[in-house]
Amino acid sequence: MKYLLATTILFSLFSCSVTSHKASLFSKGMSIGLDQVGMEKTGPIRFQKIIVADWVGDRDGLIDIDDPKAVAAGLEKGKEPIQIYFYTITHPKFGTYLVDSGVSQSFRKDPKEWPITGIVASEMNFSYLKIRQTTKEWLDAHPNRIEAVLLTHSHLDHILGISDLPEGIPILAGPKETTHTYFLNAFVQGMTDTLLGDKPKLYELDFPEEEKNPSLRILDFFGDKSFLVIHVPGHTSGSLAFVVKSTSGIHLLTGDSSHTNWGWNNNVTPGQYSEDKQKNKESLDFLKKVASQFPGIEVHCGHQSFTGTAQKD
Ligand SMILES: [Zn+2]
Repeated sequence: MKYLLATTILFSLFSCSVTSHKASLFSKGMSIGLDQVGMEKTGPIRFQKIIVADWVGDRDGLIDIDDPKAVAAGLEKGKEPIQIYFYTITHPKFGTYLVDSGVSQSFRKDPKEWPITGIVASEMNFSYLKIRQTTKEWLDAHPNRIEAVLLTHSHLDHILGISDLPEGIPILAGPKETTHTYFLNAFVQGMTDTLLGDKPKLYELDFPEEEKNPSLRILDFFGDKSFLVIHVPGHTSGSLAFVVKSTSGIHLLTGDSSHTNWGWNNNVTPGQYSEDKQKNKESLDFLKKVASQFPGIEVHCGHQSFTGTAQKD
């Protein structure tokens, strides 16, 4: 009991927000419910998924290996092959947005010069990181204007590419993503501040109806239901997922509400990497409901890609 009290006090003393940069509220789009998401099989968005790097994660962070389904499947601690992605969302009228930021050119340098500490680099298995394409390399080959970058969440591996993006680009995160306090943030706040840049134009999306009615957690971003932003708290407070109605079909980007294909297929949340597993489970259940609205939807987990039709339960 004493130990528990001491730990609680210690955690609350060191709890802090993920960044000390201040975010403004960003109001865009309309709140809609699951019954209003539409049933189209394609849409106007040009969608691209860019594989940025091959990497590994700790399985007990990526998947709750204590979940009965994981125990039954014999999942144990170990390394799991994963990747880092970012996505482009190009609307014919409203321009190009990025989802997540990739990895910047600075990670081509010697690891000693990376803007993250050695301890965090080691905890995050960065010695395994094999970059395929930096954000700058991709931008040089695709020199289009980018309106803003939307973050699935603000963990380091999703903001590593921001310094390669045009200066002053709006960075849009989910509700309370930048202000919610969590004890592990004490270890990363300085690095998050650096990676977001000097005086970033940081915003949190407004989900105006969600507080009154938690099912209204879907934002019709462009107002034509082509791009839906879904608030999925749990992995972090402001975690976001996205439905993209593209010329090539409907896509669901789960963010790190499910890092892995196994987690998605078995409806098992991430493990230690999630701040609140119970909320993460509720959000994952909600994403399953969203996916069931669109037969043939292509699901993109946070750090793994399905091949063939493996994503269908
Ligand atoms: Zn991640």
